[in-house]
Amino acid sequence: MKILLVEDEERLASFIRKGMSAEGYEVEIAYDGRTGLSLFRRNSYDIIILDINLPHINGFELCRLIRADNENVPVLMLTALDSLADKSDGFNAGADDYLAKPFEFQELLLRLRALTRRSGVKQKQVLQLADLELNLDNKTVTRAGERIDLTTREYALLEYLMINKGKTISRVDISERVWSLNFDTGTNVIDVYISYLRKKIDKGFSPKLLHTIVGMGYVLRES
Ligand code: CA
Repeated sequence: MKILLVEDEERLASFIRKGMSAEGYEVEIAYDGRTGLSLFRRNSYDIIILDINLPHINGFELCRLIRADNENVPVLMLTALDSLADKSDGFNAGADDYLAKPFEFQELLLRLRALTRRSGVKQKQVLQLADLELNLDNKTVTRAGERIDLTTREYALLEYLMINKGKTISRVDISERVWSLNFDTGTNVIDVYISYLRKKIDKGFSPKLLHTIVGMGYVLRES
């Protein structure tokens, strides 16, 4: 999934690129409208994100020029301007969606997913943390490119932790979501499965990803 991002705020552009790369998107950045247009004409993109206030060619104008060449590529406009008039300018220029700054990265991600779904672009369904990858389509897991064989239950546990990466997940959450059960507090079945999973995804690899938070639960993260 390849994205063209036309954004003159360098810090915001690199923040977006970093976040999108972690989600498996490839992002090319243009810092002004003219460069954005020439990248668009030279390459093919699955989605285009445009700021409005840009050097040389503004986002509305750029959107019109893009639409003149390509009616289908999804265009999301990203801007500090948040009045209704600006929004309708964006839609009149041919934008498919509009997101006002400041925004939460998660919202950008959700909107991009919705746009690509609508446009029928096939998205690679891969969750990633460091060099650990979980493919939601064929339910395979690799670490540093090596295939890791998991049982159905281990896979379900890992998928749940990957979806919630960076968050501490309690044993109760795990028992409800992965086993669809409420365990007696005395049972150690989750700890046992965590230790199986840890052996498979962490043993012999660095950094360690599956961490125990004493008294709280477990978290999947890089440090
Ligand atoms: Ca700008």
